[in-house]
Formats: sequence, structure tokens, C-alpha cells
Amino acid sequence: MKRTRIIILILSLLLIIIGCTNDNTTSTTSLTANKDNMTTTTVDNNSSTTSSKEITTTKEDIPTTTTTFNEPTTTKEVVTTTKENITTTQEPVITTTQEIITTTQENITTEHIHEYGEWHTKNSPTCIGSGKEERICSCGESETRTIEALGHNYSKWVTVSEPTDTNNGKRERICSRCGHKEEEIIDSLSYIDGLVFELSEDESYYIVSGKEDYSYDTVVIPASYNNKPVKEIKDYGFENNSYINSVYLSNNVSSIGERAFYNCSFLTSITIPNSITSIGFFAFSSCRRLVEVINKSDLKLTAGSLDNGYITFFAKDIIDDESKSKLSKMNDNCIVYIDDKIIELICYVKPITNIVVPNGITSIGNYAFSGCLSLTSITLPSSVTSIGNSAFYNCPFLHPLQFKKP
Ligand SMILES: [Zn+2]
Ligand SMILES: [Zn+2]
Repeated sequence: MKRTRIIILILSLLLIIIGCTNDNTTSTTSLTANKDNMTTTTVDNNSSTTSSKEITTTKEDIPTTTTTFNEPTTTKEVVTTTKENITTTQEPVITTTQEIITTTQENITTEHIHEYGEWHTKNSPTCIGSGKEERICSCGESETRTIEALGHNYSKWVTVSEPTDTNNGKRERICSRCGHKEEEIIDSLSYIDGLVFELSEDESYYIVSGKEDYSYDTVVIPASYNNKPVKEIKDYGFENNSYINSVYLSNNVSSIGERAFYNCSFLTSITIPNSITSIGFFAFSSCRRLVEVINKSDLKLTAGSLDNGYITFFAKDIIDDESKSKLSKMNDNCIVYIDDKIIELICYVKPITNIVVPNGITSIGNYAFSGCLSLTSITLPSSVTSIGNSAFYNCPFLHPLQFKKP
């Protein structure tokens, strides 16, 4: 009896123990894995407490996590798939991280912003030459920029010789920095004498014309008058003048007005400076002896053209420099055009009554004597072989021509 009791007691004790342990061990363990780590979460159903544990993604760690599993067989399968996932995900992550690093390094090199010091002069500028200045960054990089030439530092003009009625004067000024001396011609008073200067509307420049009795053979338009530039030749400014042979315009003149030199019938040569941008209508119309145009401007001038106020309508030559001129004077009053062996008489510049054409002249130019109202007789040398069109047109007092054979 005693034995059976003891056995029964032991059995019931055992039953109690088994019941307890079954209750206590009801817990679920789950295994989760992401690309970076693997977590085993064990949820205790009774206490409702969740505990999670991060496991590093090394193969060696994995077996230790499996120890808590109740059914080892199924757990192993889970582990295998997780391993695969880990291997495939790990590699790309590493590669992209490396790429990012490389590009960041590149950015670093380009993003350096220079911090330059003060500008300091490397080469000093002179009156006519530019200089250079430099500034340096701590990285050794340097930057340079040009310092503009200073320009001469001139004193006031000093008159060296006063102009007279017939002679030009001279004035000079000296640079206090480099000693450079600039000289300038002061136009003779006679040229200024015959001219009329009118102030422009905005009072910034002068407009010039010839006095009614302008009787000089040359027109020289000065660069300035009363310290202001002379920029325009007035409309009709020298119209119908029969004294003018040549015209020189300064580099300040930009426009020649309408009919400014219309019918200046003894005008043979004109220099157009590069400052000229416009020539008015008929400015040189009827200038039938204007055989040479020295064009220094950008205007497109072609012989025989009606453009630009007929300036080249009668031109034999359009040249770009005075030194190429083919015009010269013989006997002080006879203008000739020399081209190779041809010496052509263009015109006489002073009123003439009886004329003996110099020997050597080979031809009489077109209109050479036309309109010479005072001409009564003329003797031509044997060297003359041709006479141009209208050479004696409108010479009312000239007796019929008589030719002497050599
Ligand atoms: Zn730098
Ligand atoms: Zn200087």
C-alpha cells in the first residue's frame, strides 16, 4: 500500500510538472532577414514579451541562432534561403558604395575655390604700353590682368611759331612722364580767313563753309576751331567756286553736305579722310575736272559712279594715298596728269587770256579750257597728239583754232 501510494504520488507529481513545462514552453521563434542583418524574434505567448536579437550576416553566426529552435529540420531550410539572400544582396551594395566614394573624391578636387591675395604689379604700364598685374592663391595658382597704357601726360600746347597769312605755324607739347614731344601744325591764317564756322545746334562742334569771295586754290579744313572739332561741310558750302583746285579735310570731318562743292569746275583733286561717313546729294556734281580722288574712308568709290554725290563721276583714278598721285603742276598754273608717257593737261588754275601750252604735253584733257571766259588765244606744242571732249566748250572769245605743223 505504502508503495502504491508513493508511486501514485510520484506519478501525480510528474503529471503536474509535465503540465507546467508544456505551458511555459509555448513560444514561437521567427527568423527574419534583410539585406544587412538577420534577426531572430522569439515571442513568448504567455508573457507577451518580444525579444529581438541582431545577428551579423556572417555564415558562422547563423548556427548559433538555430539552437533555440524546437524543430531543427525546418529551421535549417529557412537558414539556407536566408544565406542565399544575403549573398546576392551584399555584393551590389558594396559596389555602389565604392562608386559613390570615387565621385565624391572627384568633387573635392573641382570644388576648390581659389582665394587670391591682393593684386600686385608684375609689369608697370607706360605711356604707350600696357602693363600686367598678378594675384596668387595659396594653392600656387595665379591670375593676371592687363593694366591699360597710361597715355601721355602732356603739358599745355606751347606755340613754337605763330601762323601768318601765308605760312603755317607750329605748336608743341611735352609728356611729363616719358618726355615724348608732340608737334602740330597751326594752319596759316589765310585758310582760316576764307572760312566761316558755325556752331552746331548742340554746340559741340563746328560746321564750315567758304566765304562768298573765297579765292584760294586750296581748301584746308582744320581739325578744330575755338577748341571744338570741325565735323561738317555745310550744304552749298563751296558751291560754284572757280578758284579751288584741291580740298583737304581733317580727320574730324564726318560729313560733306548737299551740293557742298557743286560745280567747283577747277577742282582736280580731293582727299576723303577715313572719318567721312556721308557725302550729300550732288556734292560734287558738275566738278568735271575732278580727275583724282584719294579715298581713305570706308566708302566704296568707283570711277564713273553717280553715288556719293558724283564724287568719282569724272575720276581717272581712285587712290588710297597721296604719294600715288599722278597730278602735278607745270609753270605754276597748269595742272597736268602724268601716267607713263602721257602728260595730259587738265586745266589752268588762274584766269588766262593768251596761252602757250608747254612743250611735252601729249594731250588736252576733257573740258580742259571749257568755260574759260577770258581766253582769247592758245598755242599748242607739237607734242600734243589728242584733244579731249569739250576741251574748248564755252570759250566765247577764243578765235578759231590754228594748228601749226611741226
Ligand atoms: Zn587655389
Ligand atoms: Zn608719355
